Amino acid sequence: MPDTHTQAAGNQSPADIVLVVEDSAAILDLIAANIEEITEARVIKAKSLAEARVLLDRWRDRITLAVLDLNLGDAPDGEIVAVVRARHIPVIVLTGTMSEAMRERVMRMNVVDYVYKRNANEISYVASLARRILANCGQKVLVVDDTASFRGYLAHLLKVHRYRVIEADGAVAALDILKEHPEIRLVITDYNMPDMDGMELVCRIREQRDRTRLAIIGVSGDTDASLTPRMLKAGANDFLHKPFQAEEFYCRITQNMDTLDYVRAIRDAAQTDFLTGLHNRNYLFEHAERLFNNAQRGHIELSVAMLDIDHFKRINDSRGHAAGDSALKVVAQALKDEVRDGDLLARVGGEEFCVVGVNVSDADAMFERYRRAVENATVSTPEGEFYTTISIGVCQQLQESFDAMLATADAALYVAKHAGRNRYVIADLETPESEAQPAA
Ligand code: GH3
Ligand code: MG
Ligand code: MG
Repeated sequence: MPDTHTQAAGNQSPADIVLVVEDSAAILDLIAANIEEITEARVIKAKSLAEARVLLDRWRDRITLAVLDLNLGDAPDGEIVAVVRARHIPVIVLTGTMSEAMRERVMRMNVVDYVYKRNANEISYVASLARRILANCGQKVLVVDDTASFRGYLAHLLKVHRYRVIEADGAVAALDILKEHPEIRLVITDYNMPDMDGMELVCRIREQRDRTRLAIIGVSGDTDASLTPRMLKAGANDFLHKPFQAEEFYCRITQNMDTLDYVRAIRDAAQTDFLTGLHNRNYLFEHAERLFNNAQRGHIELSVAMLDIDHFKRINDSRGHAAGDSALKVVAQALKDEVRDGDLLARVGGEEFCVVGVNVSDADAMFERYRRAVENATVSTPEGEFYTTISIGVCQQLQESFDAMLATADAALYVAKHAGRNRYVIADLETPESEAQPAA
């Protein structure tokens, strides 16, 4: 499949291990359950510093994140934070009460954040923050500032949240880096820079990437109050005035990354067929258009096929709608297993699928493989097993539009149905449709 989007949970891997240390068993279990519910991570639990030390030794560098209570029976004054930070593990601090002095001391130890554990809301905040930190691993952030020391400071803050930081000493360098690294989803940029100001940089970036795919956060020490609205209107997602608190910086970064992930999840859902998990019609048309343009420029050859389950109405009528749904899922999976990487498969209607093949060298072999894969796939239901077949119509000649190629494929499908079903027909545009010879 050409779709390389990951889900909202980002890059987290099942191998992630989260250490939670908390002396109240009830809160410990609640936090662990919340984290396990929304991440793929495995949670390991301790009720004291002593127990935590054992787990730290046992799991060594496999722990990716720790959630730590500041007041433990054997470590009443936050001693555990230094122990865990010494192993370079990111830390989220939990606390019942927090004095200003304690807050400053904790933040100086470069923790991800601190959270008051007063109610369920805050526990779920811990879990969503944990998901963010796990997802951040490998996520690249571009920091643009002509002052090396400030770039270094931002890079340091971002690394605590496990981002990978790329630095640019000016706007021109930033544009080059973005071209080279299209996977960057967050840019933090200074306003006053000698080669190009932050506003122009934002405009230039927005010519290529919109604000739902790449977030830009402006930063400036300039006291001009009109700067914020101007930057936002130019296309920045957010703006921060220097100097700022590390916590505010983190809140803004996290919110912006969460928003990008939500938009991506919604976009993915809008392009996915709920029943089969295949791409849907929207996705097909968006991506087929691009392939068609490439074919028109002569870069690739396209084959467009329409596939339709035979006598599907009979399955519904005789075995019930649920059995019909099972058949759809089985056919979808059988086709998915056959479709090559780089080709496109989508469910375009009730029991209709479409395949867009790129540079198909042997169409007969390919569509015969599809036909046979479906014919041999067993549909299992509580009432028993059954089999189903498909008919396929193919258009292999480039036409004036993708729609025209689909219509030709559809006409060939019609021929296949009338010739007895369970076969493929490749349209021959030189001969009139009525004379086209069904294969198989
Ligand atoms: P043909 O061989 O000529 O294609 O006949 P057919 O019965 O497959 O075609 P027809 O278009 O007459 O019927 C398609 C049926 O598919 C009608 C519709 O109720 C059913 N259908 C459409 N979407 C779904 C779905 O999501 N689930 C189920 N179970 N049935 C569906
Ligand atoms: Mg049908
Ligand atoms: Mg149909």
